Amino acid sequence: SYRKGGYHAVRLADQFAAGRYIAQRKLGWGQFSTVWLAYDTKTSSYVALKIQKSAAQFVQAALHEIDVLSSVADSDPSNSKFVIQLIDHFKHTGPNGQHLCMVLEFLGDSLLRLIRYNHYKGLPLNKVREICKCVLIGLDYLHTDLGIIHSDLKPENILLCSTIDPAKDPFRSEHSPILERPEGNANGGVTSLIEKRLKSRARKAVAKISGRRESMGGSGDVENSGRVDGIDVRCKIVDFGNACWADKHFAEEIQTRQYRAPEVILKAGYSFSVDMWSFACIAFELATGDMLFTPKDGQGFSEDEDHLALMMELLGKMARKIATGGALSKDFFDRHGDLKRIRRLKFFPLDKLLIDKYKFSVNDAQEFSEFLLPLFDFAPEKRPTARQCLQHPWLKCPNEEENESSVNVEMSNLKIKGGK
Ligand code: ADP
Ligand code: MG
Repeated sequence: SYRKGGYHAVRLADQFAAGRYIAQRKLGWGQFSTVWLAYDTKTSSYVALKIQKSAAQFVQAALHEIDVLSSVADSDPSNSKFVIQLIDHFKHTGPNGQHLCMVLEFLGDSLLRLIRYNHYKGLPLNKVREICKCVLIGLDYLHTDLGIIHSDLKPENILLCSTIDPAKDPFRSEHSPILERPEGNANGGVTSLIEKRLKSRARKAVAKISGRRESMGGSGDVENSGRVDGIDVRCKIVDFGNACWADKHFAEEIQTRQYRAPEVILKAGYSFSVDMWSFACIAFELATGDMLFTPKDGQGFSEDEDHLALMMELLGKMARKIATGGALSKDFFDRHGDLKRIRRLKFFPLDKLLIDKYKFSVNDAQEFSEFLLPLFDFAPEKRPTARQCLQHPWLKCPNEEENESSVNVEMSNLKIKGGK
């Protein structure tokens, strides 16, 4: 990819924007870009420099992301909304062409990495709560104030606020041992559950979830900051490359597979509530270490149909009107609202899953389910908004010995504009 139209190769200490930014080390990469830690000589601080590939379609995508990020930054001058801030942008000409570059505030590890550090065992519920509050404040801001749908919310696209001073610890190689992926069966849990379901339908058992995500494209992050214990769990929503406005969509197929809402699969139209669906999938994953839905295609049925089956096994049957109401409904459902190719569903409710498989206490399982289930309503308009969700009792669970969290402070600054 380091050729004409592709990535721009960066070497340590390379200069950008007429010497203002100096490259320090690679932070990560995505389908469209590489991201570098850079020193901003103007403000004497560290920033993340996202350097886009140079071909026309990547330039177009970057212009779109800059457009969205500019509106995010303009409406949040105090930077308190748990959404990544764009600091600057410019063009950089290199041997592979002209690259658009975004200068972003420097953040830490993604939630995916946090889940990995914890060896896919799930985080303590008080940490899950803190993360949920940040994400919800961020979503409320995007949805209510800006009319923006993120449309690719997933653990990779939520980054922890870095508490590491890169100046003191710029290369961090001494921390690499804790960054190793656990051997073998990452996500063995989900796999075995799915296998059971597959067998119950006499389908071919599908195993390994290696190469975890279909995702909108490959991405990777290079070793970065982060420790599980004592971590400041504030985080921010990043990657607005796929974002759109409620009144201006750019694509019909949105979201990364495992976090995709049912109305997207059925092509029944979508709005802000698709982000709420993904949010609930992420909350489950944080608490258990496993992705909630990992559909696979099989003999005679598609990944989409399997996905719908998995949703109904967990959440109950979809009302006929919803099941048959999308442009693609006929591909999956008969006129009674039953799946065409997957006839026998094995129902397994969420609270039971949390108790049986994840060893939640009955109380924890019930409270967490009560928080999540409304977000998994098959009727998108019935899902709570981010703002309504912020009022949920689960987020202020009193019977845990938590210190006054930094997030609660931010919460009190949240202006509630009428309504609940
Ligand atoms: P793409 O649009 O190409 O997928 P992303 O915006 O997702 O690019 O960034 C790619 C990776 O770079 C992320 O997964 C993350 O590891 C890293 N990254 C992105 N933004 C930042 C940031 N502000 N601070 C630190 N790391 C970042
Ligand atoms: Mg990305």
